[in-house]
Parts: sequence; C-alpha cells; structure tokens
Amino acid sequence: MASSENRRDDSPGRMQYVGFCRVCGGGAIGVRLCGRCGDLSLVCDECGALWTDARLGGPPSMHLVDEAPCPSCGHSLWEAPSRWATRGQVFAMGWLARAIEDGVVTLREGAAFGPGE
Ligand SMILES: [Zn+2]
Ligand SMILES: [Zn+2]
Repeated sequence: MASSENRRDDSPGRMQYVGFCRVCGGGAIGVRLCGRCGDLSLVCDECGALWTDARLGGPPSMHLVDEAPCPSCGHSLWEAPSRWATRGQVFAMGWLARAIEDGVVTLREGAAFGPGE
C-alpha cells in the first residue's frame, strides 16, 4: 500500500469513535491504538474509562483517573507513540470490525480532544 494513502488516513486531530460514555455522561469513546503492541482499546476521551470489547453498555474493563494502560502490554495509551486509531486500523481489528458490521456499535469520525493530540 502506498504510504501517501496511509498518511491521508492518518489525519492528525481526528479520532474514530464508537459511541458516548455512560460512565461520565459526555465523553466520546474513541478507538485508541497502543504505540507499543498495536492493540486497540475503546477509551473515553473525557474520563479514561476503557473497554476491551464492544459491550459499551456494560461497565468498563478498566477505569483509572488520568491513566489508561494498554490491557495487553501495560504501555500508556495516552503517551506517544500511542494515538487514536485510523479508520483502516479499526477495520483491521477483527472483533471491532465485526461489532461494526453487526451494528453493535457505530463508527463515526470526529475532532480529537483527548490527551496526546
Ligand atoms: Zn467517560
Ligand atoms: Zn499495548
């Protein structure tokens, strides 16, 4: 794949999000890419509530104030090189792509306000 196409997908200041957070009542739940292991997590950009699956109606898998360690490797999801995932990365992650295709969550794109952007 040409790198220019990757870069276009990688627009800074944008985030892919899949819904709004019921924990804090206002944050967008974005798709966060771990900069170390490449795993994706669903993280509220306001309160840091984190889900490792698409069941966003349930309690978060993790909820630490001002911290969001990657569930797979422990690297901070807020510190570089962790970033918001691109649309291509979202659909490359099997469980998340299936949840979107099945209508469990709806993928939208918006402006990123979370830390690290
Ligand atoms: Zn929240
Ligand atoms: Zn990781």
